[in-house]
Amino acid sequence: MTSTSNLQITNDSKLKLAIQKSGRLHDDSMKLLKECGIDVNNNANKLKADASNFPLELFFLRDDDIPQYVEDGVADIGFVGENVVYEKEKELIIVEKLGFGKCRLSIAVGRSEAYTDSSFLEGKKIATSYPVIVQNYLNKHAIKAEIHEISGSVEIAPGIGLAHAICDLVSSGSTLFMNGLKEVETILQSEAVLVKSNKLNQEQEKLLNKLVFRIQSVKKAKNNKYVLLNAPNKNLEEIIKLLPGMKSPTVLPLANEGWSSVHSVINESDFWDIIEQLQALGAQGILVVPIEKMII
Ligand code: ATP
Ligand code: MG
Repeated sequence: MTSTSNLQITNDSKLKLAIQKSGRLHDDSMKLLKECGIDVNNNANKLKADASNFPLELFFLRDDDIPQYVEDGVADIGFVGENVVYEKEKELIIVEKLGFGKCRLSIAVGRSEAYTDSSFLEGKKIATSYPVIVQNYLNKHAIKAEIHEISGSVEIAPGIGLAHAICDLVSSGSTLFMNGLKEVETILQSEAVLVKSNKLNQEQEKLLNKLVFRIQSVKKAKNNKYVLLNAPNKNLEEIIKLLPGMKSPTVLPLANEGWSSVHSVINESDFWDIIEQLQALGAQGILVVPIEKMII
């Protein structure tokens, strides 16, 4: 019996989660489970593993196979790149973005090519591991081009005369650069997502809700910081306006008269902007602390 659930654990009230066996998504997938308080023995040499404190069974698979396994119901849910989800066109539902595995699927051509817009691709040969997504893109732009499907090292195709253009995953762009290519169109922004099969029973939906709730709390915590600072009372009102916090900031008097200690939560994206304004209002001793979980 687990500490997190008083459900009877039968096969029907257990979730089977497929994650990448090894590769770019494996470590972040395991880390996210850990941050959600789910303990799993990380032995990716095995095909399966059980969580010890959540009714969850893990399957370690190749990322390309995850949509099929989820559609077939071999796994109930999966962590997989959006790019793979769209390419495989299986019957599954995207439940939640996971905040890691960020990349883009882009078209690239030789650096010396005079590329102005996608009409460049008309009648050309495009090498890719994503023929479905590329074909959809071409259809949308009414372009006729030949797609040459290859499973790896797509970036070398133009150099060896196999294709005029490629469509591949990019994060920093350094692989393209090293192969004399330039990125000319982004056709998809991708990150790892949680997918589910449309055949979950009620108990499994309940478990999934629990898992999603934990994932959202972890994601919120990552996007926010806890801030503590000393504020001169004369500017307290304005400082509080900058720091709305979850309800409103905590304000405590300091032993030193005329000063208060203010505690609040601020969003990562507004962080530097707000810190500068706080300093301008005379805030001192600003401490910024990471948050582990945020339940609101
Ligand atoms: P597998 O053996 O599981 O089939 P793979 O070689 O197909 O692995 P990886 O290279 O490990 O796959 O990439 C897995 C996923 O990581 C990609 O499908 C994509 O969603 C994401 N990703 C993030 N950044 C990049 C990047 N720069 N290049 C490729 N994939 C990336
Ligand atoms: Mg793969």
